Amino acid sequence: MGWKIRVKRNFNAAHYLTDYRGGPEPLHGHTWQVEVYLKADSLDKGGISIDFIELDNYLKKILPDYSLLNDILPFSPSAENLAKWLYDRLKEKYPEIEKVVVWETERYGTEYCE
Ligand SMILES: [Zn+2]
Repeated sequence: MGWKIRVKRNFNAAHYLTDYRGGPEPLHGHTWQVEVYLKADSLDKGGISIDFIELDNYLKKILPDYSLLNDILPFSPSAENLAKWLYDRLKEKYPEIEKVVVWETERYGTEYCE
């Protein structure tokens, strides 16, 4: 029993896979969509479990908007690795996190959960 809290946000960033089909991929960009899923078991007096705005602000702060992901992630910045990297950042503040979904395009996405 409980609630699932969801917040999503887009950001723009470039990347290239460092080892794709035998070599580095050409540099290109995406408008990535990130969805965060948290689990909540209780509500405060105002009927809120996790403040959407606080979560959204934290997500905005950690998303590497207008960056080259290869400069930020310590490994090849695939959608899969980006999802885990964001999950780990979010878990530092929100231990109740359940998963992070990353969409690289409208049709190609991945999710990371423990
Ligand atoms: Zn790409």
